[in-house]
Amino acid sequence: LFALTILGSNSAIPAYGRNPTAQVLQTDDQNFLIDCGEGTQMQLARHKVKRSRISRIFISHLHGDHYFGLIGLLTSMDLMNRTQALHIHAPAELENILQVQMRASGTTMRYPLHFHPLPGDGCIVDEQGIEVHCFPVQHRIPCWGFLFTEKKKPRKVIPARAGSYDIPPQFYEQLQWGKDYVTAKGTIVPNDEVTEAARPPRRYAYCADTLYDEALVEIVRGVDLLYHEATYLKNQEDKAALRYHSTTVQAAQIAQKAAVGQLVIGHFSAKYEHIEPFLEEASVIFPNTMLAIEGICIQIRQEKDT
Ligand SMILES: [Zn+2]
Ligand SMILES: [Zn+2]
Repeated sequence: LFALTILGSNSAIPAYGRNPTAQVLQTDDQNFLIDCGEGTQMQLARHKVKRSRISRIFISHLHGDHYFGLIGLLTSMDLMNRTQALHIHAPAELENILQVQMRASGTTMRYPLHFHPLPGDGCIVDEQGIEVHCFPVQHRIPCWGFLFTEKKKPRKVIPARAGSYDIPPQFYEQLQWGKDYVTAKGTIVPNDEVTEAARPPRRYAYCADTLYDEALVEIVRGVDLLYHEATYLKNQEDKAALRYHSTTVQAAQIAQKAAVGQLVIGHFSAKYEHIEPFLEEASVIFPNTMLAIEGICIQIRQEKDT
């Protein structure tokens, strides 16, 4: 399982039934919450995402539309008797903000809450099955994107073939990691004779709120799914630049230059009632585009052979 559920897709102000930014990346054994705009916990309930499976929360920046839902969610987790640890990866100042909120309300979380300030860039999570990197994006205040990468899976041993070379089962683990087998007589059995490749690791990149920035191209090159904001339609390019946001066309250009598998665009400005034109404009440049419609769940697949 490697799937993205959209919980909020709007920028700044909730409008036309759209909520501020939040997404959940679901893996086999945990959920990662990415940004937590106001209303996120209601959206989790509405779209049946288990909050108990959320192990880590990533906050891209401290504009309210990306974290105003956080204290509510954290408090509810405590009220619901959460016991397992929760990790928050966020700009350093958020730790003080949370402490002020908790102190003023006399709240202490009874579950272990670990705060990890974001470094400039680099690996921030390295655990079984997955790695997460953060990278800076260009916005009015410090802002980060996140790159989620599945870990390389071991190769699969084909027992019938391994058996035909009399390879002892004790050696299978080494076969899984690509080692060739050498028989007692010194004959080499090439690894790919007796194993098959596992599915290549999948990757998802979340580019938060950002100006059009070609520096992102190398960072997100070839990912299976790219989320890039598209706050405005293409005729608002000047306004987008002024406010450190991007347009449909700019999001699609990043996707195209980076040769990603699929693009999802969101963070729609509250001034637009209808968002279909966003899809029309982006698709002209990058056909495999979809809108971040709340409630959709995107199964992240390898769309291309890389
Ligand atoms: Zn925003
Ligand atoms: Zn912002």
